[in-house]
Order: sequence, then C-alpha cells, then structure tokens
Amino acid sequence: MNNKIVYTPGPTSVRENVRLARSNKTTNPDIDKDFFDFYKKTCDNIAKIIKTKNDVYILSGEGILGLESACASLTEKGDRVLVIDNGVFGRGFKDFVSLYGGDAVLFSKEHTKDIDVNELKDFLEKDNDFKYATIVHCDTPTGVLNNLSEICPLLKKYNILTIVDSVAAMGGEEFKVDEWEIDIALGGSQKAISAPAGLTIVSVSEDAKKSIKLRKSNVIGFYCNLGIWENYYDKNSFPYTMPISDILGLGKAIDNIIDEKIENVLDRHKKIASATRKALKEYGLDLFLTKGYSSTVTAIKIPKNIGALKLSNYMLEKHNTLVATSLGEYKEDILRIGHMGENARLEKIINILNTIDQSLKQLGFNSNKNLVELFNKFYE
Ligand SMILES: *Cc1c(COP(=O)(O)O)cnc(C)c1O
Repeated sequence: MNNKIVYTPGPTSVRENVRLARSNKTTNPDIDKDFFDFYKKTCDNIAKIIKTKNDVYILSGEGILGLESACASLTEKGDRVLVIDNGVFGRGFKDFVSLYGGDAVLFSKEHTKDIDVNELKDFLEKDNDFKYATIVHCDTPTGVLNNLSEICPLLKKYNILTIVDSVAAMGGEEFKVDEWEIDIALGGSQKAISAPAGLTIVSVSEDAKKSIKLRKSNVIGFYCNLGIWENYYDKNSFPYTMPISDILGLGKAIDNIIDEKIENVLDRHKKIASATRKALKEYGLDLFLTKGYSSTVTAIKIPKNIGALKLSNYMLEKHNTLVATSLGEYKEDILRIGHMGENARLEKIINILNTIDQSLKQLGFNSNKNLVELFNKFYE
C-alpha cells in the first residue's frame, strides 16, 4: 500500500520526522499539564503562521469538522448566510448552513476564476443583511484562490462575520487572519501542512465568540460547538480526550514550517506553481482557470480523447503513481497537480511532471516538447 508515489492535493507526503514524532511515548492528555503546554505551544505556532492573535484550537477530526463546526456554532434558525460560491467547496457550504437551520443565500460565480471584488461590492450594496458569510481560500477541485485581503474586510464593513475555509491554502499561501479581519479561519492537517489527515485547525475571533455567546438557542450538537473550547487552557480541561499521537505529529509538521520560515515556504510554493503553469501551457495543455491561480494546486484540462480518469489510472498502473482527478462535475476533465506542503519540493515536482509527460505521450498525446525541460526553463 505505501510504496506508491503519492502526489495528490491532500493528503500530501508526510516527512519522516513527523511520522517519527507520532511514535513517541504518550501520556494522559486529559491530566498531564505538559501535554496542555505542548498543545498550546502548537496552537501558538500555528497562530504565528496564519498571523493572528485570536485563539487557535486543534480539533479531533478531519478538515470537514472545521467547516461543520463553524456553521453549527454561528447558525441559528432562520439566520441569513451569504455563501460565496466559485468552486465545489464554496458551494458546498450551503449544505452545512441549511443543516443547522440557516437560510443560505448563494453568491454564485463562474468556477474558472477568483471572485471579482467589485461584483461582490455591487451585490452587497443592495443586500447585506447577513449574519455571516462563507468563502473558500483555495477551492481545491479547481485550484482557484480568492483574494481574501479585500473580500473579508469588505464583508466586515457590513458587520458580516466571515468563515474562511483555508484547508488547502494554510501553510502554502499567504494568510493574514487579523489584517484581513477573518472571524473563523479553518485549516486541516493533511494539505499544505503535511501531517496525516485527522485534525482540524480553527481560529476564532472575539466577534465570533461574542456571536456564539449571544445565541438565543443552544448550538445543535456538542462536538461541533466551538464554544466548548473557551478557556480550555486556563481551566486545564479539554472538552474531550485529545488524539495525542496525531497532535505530536502535527506539532512536528508545524515546527518544520517554522524552522524553514513561513516566507521561504510560501516562496517555494510560488516558484514551483508558477513554473508548473508556464510549462504546462507551452507543452500544449490548457489550465482550467483563466485567473486566480493558487500556488498549492494546479488543475489542468486533459484532452477529451484521453480523459483525466484514464490518465490517472494509467499513471497508477504503469508508474505506481497516485494522482487525483477532480470532484463532482469536473471528475472526467481535470487532473490536479498538488504541489503543496512537502509535495512542493523540486525533486518531487520534476518527478511527477516527468510521469505526466510520459503517460500522456504513451496514451497518444501529441507533443514534441518535454515537460520537465520546460519546467526547468521557467523555474527561477
Ligand atoms: C480537503 C479540503 C477540505 C476537507 O475535506 P476532505 O475532502 O474531506 O479532505 C475542506 N475544504 C477544502 C477546500 C479542502 O481542500
């Protein structure tokens, strides 16, 4: 199972020191003060990476738990919620909003580019009576990156709280939670942070906490109530027993980012993503997006006569390489290159581009160019 080359936009490769950290001796995380300190220190390190003074929590559950918790905690029956949709995850937020009784109002735009701030401005001038808005930082199935630095402060001007899904961007894209006035920021362990799947990262602003406190009705559910984390450190009490080995691994993955320095990590992502896009275009493939490219994942259109599923199956059978197509309506058309986290390393991207090049040609794609040579030409 584990001798494959895995190059997907999450879960990403996990470094050996992270895997080893997970095998460290464990303690009782409910009562051992040292574990509370370790957990808190990991949260504080994450806060540095995402540039916030807000409280950060690590929840026991994969990224989706964060999306659901944020909606469960803020939504009361009948609340109007603005769901900003320019991707599969963006649109998907409406299901969580409705599940908890909210009235989801969609702001739906093409999935081929990032949200146009001026269009959102025009929309909000006419309708802005929303308790909160949801938006995705990088919508992974298509790789679109939204300009949160303008969108979130704009929403805040109308007193609309923001929930940002940065699961596929956190640790691979610039993310300034405080400067961009983001109320609930969500991340996951298994994407650009490069720890195994299983943990959600959440930061909660004072405004979001106040909104949860002022609810007239109780939050539906216990696990998804962000209110249960309030003052856990001062009280020396977690709401439930923490998955200690997962958190030991995450702590090491976060140390890796801090040691390399987040600026260098982001720079590494940017250079690889930019050269990848240029190389693919000159090679003769089309990118799915027209603008708003994320540095964590690139979606390419695979010619219809080959198809993304056939290509990915071929790469697995012939080259022992696991790559991802896309989700939902894009499954047949898009292959995704997940150059995020530990996948955003030169030797890894070169290897995957070489496999894509060979596989496409073996399946009949006509190009007299070499994808790796093109990548090297554009990489600077
Ligand atoms: C991966 C991801 C999540 C978590 O969902 P899973 O598909 O269950 O891993 C949430 N949001 C985004 C944008 C993601 O990329």
